[in-house]
Amino acid sequence: MHKHHTSEDGYKYKPDYKWPDLGTIKNCPRCNDELELIENKDSYFGKPWWCAPCQWQFSEEDLATLEEKPDVEK
Ligand SMILES: [Zn+2]
Repeated sequence: MHKHHTSEDGYKYKPDYKWPDLGTIKNCPRCNDELELIENKDSYFGKPWWCAPCQWQFSEEDLATLEEKPDVEK
């Protein structure tokens, strides 16, 4: 079903993700492949990191959370 937006309410909210510096390298917490850093364009509403093998987006916050392993005792 198509939703028809007729007013300024049609603007999509762009989440205020923290964007990494270009050239930053991170690995996927799931498959450990190198993540792709997406360009921060106004037309892009997704998260900054993309893993092609997992078909999954990550934000910096996601990565910080996933890198923590709270159930592992030091
Ligand atoms: Zn992955």
